[in-house]
Amino acid sequence: MKRDYYEVLGVAKTAATDEIKSAYRKLALKYHPDKNPGNKEAEEKFKEINEAYEVLSDAQKKQQYDTFGHDVAGGMGGGQGGYTQYSSGDFSNMGDIFGDIFGDVFGGSQRSGRKSGRSSQRRGEDLRYDIEISYLDAMKGAEISIDIPKKETCSTCHGTGSKDGSAPRPCPQCKGKGQVRYSQGFFSVSQECPQCKGAGVVISNPCPECRGEGTVKKRKTIKVRVPAGVDEGTSLKVTGSGNAGANGASSGDLYVVVHMKQTTGFKRSGDDLYTGIPISFSQAAIGMEYDVPVIEGCVKVKVPAGTQPGTTLRVREQGFPVLGRKNRGDLYVKINISVPKSMSDEQKRALFEYAKAMGEVPKDAKYQSDNFFKKIFG
Ligand SMILES: [Zn+2]
Ligand SMILES: [Zn+2]
Repeated sequence: MKRDYYEVLGVAKTAATDEIKSAYRKLALKYHPDKNPGNKEAEEKFKEINEAYEVLSDAQKKQQYDTFGHDVAGGMGGGQGGYTQYSSGDFSNMGDIFGDIFGDVFGGSQRSGRKSGRSSQRRGEDLRYDIEISYLDAMKGAEISIDIPKKETCSTCHGTGSKDGSAPRPCPQCKGKGQVRYSQGFFSVSQECPQCKGAGVVISNPCPECRGEGTVKKRKTIKVRVPAGVDEGTSLKVTGSGNAGANGASSGDLYVVVHMKQTTGFKRSGDDLYTGIPISFSQAAIGMEYDVPVIEGCVKVKVPAGTQPGTTLRVREQGFPVLGRKNRGDLYVKINISVPKSMSDEQKRALFEYAKAMGEVPKDAKYQSDNFFKKIFG
């Protein structure tokens, strides 16, 4: 279950924009990966915080979320094929936030591979897409087609945004600066120009197809190579497959985030695979070779004589491939001993002779009837 976004940021549902932003900043700083190296929990928390902020900081998404909850927030439509899409949405405001906060705190280091500042204003936004991967695909790797709505360069105006090909002119409101200044008490605050959205230019005769944006929203099929060894939370970057930039600026990137689909009878832990097999008492006592079914085919496992119930056997290098490496995790096979629920008379007779040999029944006892065991063992 997804946690409530307000709960994630620790704010009331009535919180003002500033309050949400301030709560996000505090949490983002606390759980930022740079401050918590190698801490998986902090990393998950950081992702959760970012996702919540992405929705609650966007008036339209916030309203959708308030109305419909997680079902709609940031979604681009239902799942398709075998893959469920959990959320989408761009990380464009993340770049700005990182520029704001982490620029100060971390000595001006650039975060998230995205240039902050106005120069990259028109670069297309990064997109996120969540897919569900089977154990088999994680074992072998796969090529997956996903169908996403994204901004593509407008073919009518070739991305210029202009109907007649006339060059964009400087924005009258900000005089080409892309920023406008407001006075607030003693302070003068610089903000993105609302008319040109920070671009500094406006289109005099906008293209009717894209209304001057230079980009149009289209569904696009993108092939994603999923390498063997991916696990829950693996993020695959598809460079240049995010939203197209306006006016010929570069495209954003697409981040495909992997979620694992469980396979009945198996458990994954890191790169190791866990399963269990049922063998009989006599097989465990005598020892045997068992063809253990795994995700793909079978693996021969030697069960040594005298194996006890609940023993777990380890088979090296038969788990999941380690992402980006040649080695694999291990396979763990738990031995369950199954006791027959019914036996033929012949089988019972043989077992009786065994029990006699083990001294479990008197030496002079004779096998008599189907009910014999009930008589002896109660
Ligand atoms: Zn156009
Ligand atoms: Zn402007």
